[in-house]
Parts: sequence; C-alpha cells; structure tokens
Amino acid sequence: MAKNFRNFIGGEWVAPTTGGYFENRNPADTADLIGRFPDSGAQDVARAVRSARRGFDLWRRTPAPARGDVLRRVGDLLVERKEAIADAMTREMGKVLAETRGDVQEGIDTAYFAATEGRRLYGRVVPSELRSKWAMTYRRPIGVAGLITPFNFPMAIPTWKTFPALLCGNAVILKPSEDVPHTAHLLVEILLEAGLPPEVIQLVHGRGETVGKALVEHPEVPVISFTGSTDTGAIIGETCGRMHKRLSLEMGGKNAQIVMDDADLDLALEGVLWGAFGTTGQRCTATSRLILHRKIHDRFLRRLTGAVESLRLGDGRADTTDVGPLIHEAARDKVERYVEIGEAQGAELVTGGRAPRGRLAAGWFYQPTIFSGVKAGSRLEQEEIFGPVLSVVRVNSFDDAVRVNNGVRYGLSSSIYTRSADVAFRALERLDNGITYVNAPTIGAEAHLPFGGVKATGNGHREGGWEVYDFYSETKACYVDYSGKLQRAQIDTYEL
Ligand code: NAD
Repeated sequence: MAKNFRNFIGGEWVAPTTGGYFENRNPADTADLIGRFPDSGAQDVARAVRSARRGFDLWRRTPAPARGDVLRRVGDLLVERKEAIADAMTREMGKVLAETRGDVQEGIDTAYFAATEGRRLYGRVVPSELRSKWAMTYRRPIGVAGLITPFNFPMAIPTWKTFPALLCGNAVILKPSEDVPHTAHLLVEILLEAGLPPEVIQLVHGRGETVGKALVEHPEVPVISFTGSTDTGAIIGETCGRMHKRLSLEMGGKNAQIVMDDADLDLALEGVLWGAFGTTGQRCTATSRLILHRKIHDRFLRRLTGAVESLRLGDGRADTTDVGPLIHEAARDKVERYVEIGEAQGAELVTGGRAPRGRLAAGWFYQPTIFSGVKAGSRLEQEEIFGPVLSVVRVNSFDDAVRVNNGVRYGLSSSIYTRSADVAFRALERLDNGITYVNAPTIGAEAHLPFGGVKATGNGHREGGWEVYDFYSETKACYVDYSGKLQRAQIDTYEL
C-alpha cells in the first residue's frame, strides 16, 4: 500500500489543507507507485510563510559559522545515504544510477562548500575618502526565500539553492517539481536531522500553477529562485518584476558540441554520447545540436550512428542500462512531435525515431535519435526538445560553427573539440554561453564554479560557486565617522 507523504510546515509533517494528493510513479514502470504527495493550495503556502518568518527571526541571529556547521552535518548525512538516495531518485525519475549518484554527490559538494563559506562570507573594508572615518560592507540575510525546482536534478538543484540561502541566514520554502517530490522529502529529513531549526525550512508539495504561483505572489517572500523552462520563468519574471522581488532564473538550453577537423574524434565521440543521451537528453546542458566540420562530417556521423545504436535502453537501476526513460507521457509526446517536425522540415532521420515496444512499453522510453542535414534556423535546431534527440548540422569553418552555435535564443552551455590552442581560445571568447567546455562535453559543471546561462537561459545571476552568495545576501554599506565633526563626502574631501 503506497504511503501518503506530507508537507513540512510550521515545524511538523502535516497533511495539505486541501485534502488532495497526487501520485508519484516510476517512469520506467508506471505500475510502480512510489507514493501520494500533497496537492497543496495557497493556504498551505500562507501557513508556510508565517512559520518561515518565525524561523527567519531565529536563524538570522545564528552566527554564520554555526549555520555552516549544520550544513557540514547535512553533507555527512548525504555521504552516509548516498546509495539509498540515488536508488530512490532513479526509481522516481529514471536516469541511471551512475547519474543519480553524481546528483547526490553534487549536493555533498555544495554542502561542504557552504559549510566552509560560513567562516568567510566576506564583506570589505575600504579606505574612506574622509579622515577619521571607516567604510565597510557586510552581508545581511534577506528574509524568506521561495525556491522552485525542476525534475531533472532532484537533489542537486534543490541543494544549489537551499544551502547558500540557509548559509546566508535566510529561511527557505522549497517547492519541488511535482515529478520528483520524494527526493525533496528525503532532503528535508536530512536537514532536520542535521539540526536545522524546524521553522527555518518548509516543504510544500503541489502544482506549479497553484503552490508555485502562490509562493511567487506572496508579498512576504522577497526572494525567488527558479529553475525550469523559459516559458514558466517568463511568467514568474513578470510577477517578480511587478512586486520588486529579487529573482534568479535558470531556464532552458539548446546546447551545441562543435567538432573541428583537427579534433581527437574518439574523444569527441565519447563526449557527444554522454552529452546528448545522458539523463535521456533531459539536462538543461544536454547536447542537443552537434556541429560537425565538413571534413570529418561523414566519418564522424557513421561512427556515432553505430555507437548510438548500441546504447541499451532500460530501467536505470539495472547495471546493463545506458539510457533510462523520459519523465512522463507528455515529455515523450513532445519528443514524438519534434521527430515529426524534423521529418516534415526535411531533416534526415539517421537512427531512432520511435518508442520501443515489448517489455519497455511499461515506461516512457524513447529510442536515442539522430537527425542529420538539419538546417540552422529550423525548428529542430532552434527549440528545446528535452529528450534523446540529437540534430547534426554541417558547417564549413570555425566561423560558421560559431554563427550556428550563437544563432539560438538560449545561451547555457557549449563545447568544442579541437587540438588547436588558438581555436580553443577563440571559441572561449566568441561562443555566447555562460559555460564553454574545451575537449569535454556540454555537461559536467562542478559545484564550486558559477553555473548559468546568457540570453533566454537566465537573468544574469549564477548558481554554484561563490557568486550565488551574492544572490542570497544583501550587501550593506556602513560608515563610521569618529572625527567628531560633520564631514561632507565629495565636498570636504579635498579640503586638506
Ligand atoms: P517546468 O518549468 O515545467 O517546472 C519547473 C518548476 O516550476 C516546477 O516545480 C513546477 O511545478 C513549477 N511551476 C510551473 N508553473 C509555475 C508557475 N506558473 N508559477 C510558479 N512555479 C511554476 O520545468 P521542468 O519540466 O520541471 O524542467 C525542465 C526545464 O528546466 C527545461 O526547460 C530545462 O532546460 C530547465 N532546466 C534549467 C536548468 C538551468 O540551470 N538552466 C537546470 C535544469 C533544468
């Protein structure tokens, strides 16, 4: 009998005021019911905000090194439970165990980074332009942070947001994707076990259009951090703009791997397989476009096709599986639609292009798919598909490759394979993305570097690294004048 899970609000695990629940099923086998999760409403969000306000008053006064200690214990617990969480995560969203282990590891890295940041969280002391006067800055917490997360990194993305927000002294309301509520539940259990005061964290499950919307629109939630699709981000951005909220948006991508004629083709082949079909293509940094120099195009495509045809689809919890299912039926329908669009627009379907039958019909599987002869500017080349579909674009030169890479509305990640240092550095300079890899695939961000994209992928903030601490804290400028007289900046400054 599947369990009814609860929200965590007001320091306790509670049922939603709506009385409604939604089902969470294994995408590799939809007969496997993981549990029922609260289909909460705006009232649950309002209760969570009231409690988080109390949590904030307590937590903001807890010294940052002590806040860091809690996060260190969170890291230790994640280490202890890594395997169990990875297994639960694969059951919940389908990607293979090696990847869900990596997802937990990213949470561990983020926890330990945050733990040590508690002893830094630097402000600055700078010389004042006036005598007998000090000028300095320090970081203050902001308030209640509403965190809205997507399905594809069920542990890593909530930790990217939650840990720095907490370390800076904010209280958190987490609204995880309705596709992966179980992993969020496991994370909140760990935060509480590690000693986080209960009202500092609230977990409210439910749909984006109800719970997410209520959180974004609540006047006492001054900080919103969202990761998800560009369409949803645009809606959230309008509300936050109107309400003068601090907002971080991490949204869609249409990332390309470029392979130049001097590249190590074995390396480039491994890179594109991992980049395009890891997480079944459901990464914001997934390689969705492969830009091949004409001199190696045919040779590389032939080898790639063979390699893709040998990828094994299946349950992510089986050792033999390379590629798991898509997250749900709508995601697979979307992939099917794009395959039809590709064929209608004259691209050549090289391999894949359908859902498998037989035992895999129990889940949302789709064959790894390649289109060649894809035209720059076509829908297949421009739009985010979020599935195992790779579009191959043939180019004549490095300049062409840059033009194609930059010719989309998104700007998250890019990659180039070349043996030329010259070309590599020119690519770093000219590719319009927040992240560029040289001789490595479009995926593989590390927790201590800033993560985010340009153009329609983001709004200028970064997750990860040190930059995220700027987002979750308010910098206050402080002046202390001990001259005993009125000193007017800019006016008395140069009267010596
Ligand atoms: P989604 O936009 O459907 O949902 C993301 C979250 O937003 C969910 O929690 C959802 O419930 C919530 N939501 C939906 N409508 C809302 C509304 N009106 N108000 C408030 N919240 C709302 O995205 P998804 O399908 O879960 O994830 C896939 C998308 O996320 C892709 O576009 C992918 O590129 C993007 N993504 C981006 C990054 C990044 O860092 N740039 C990382 C991972 C995923």
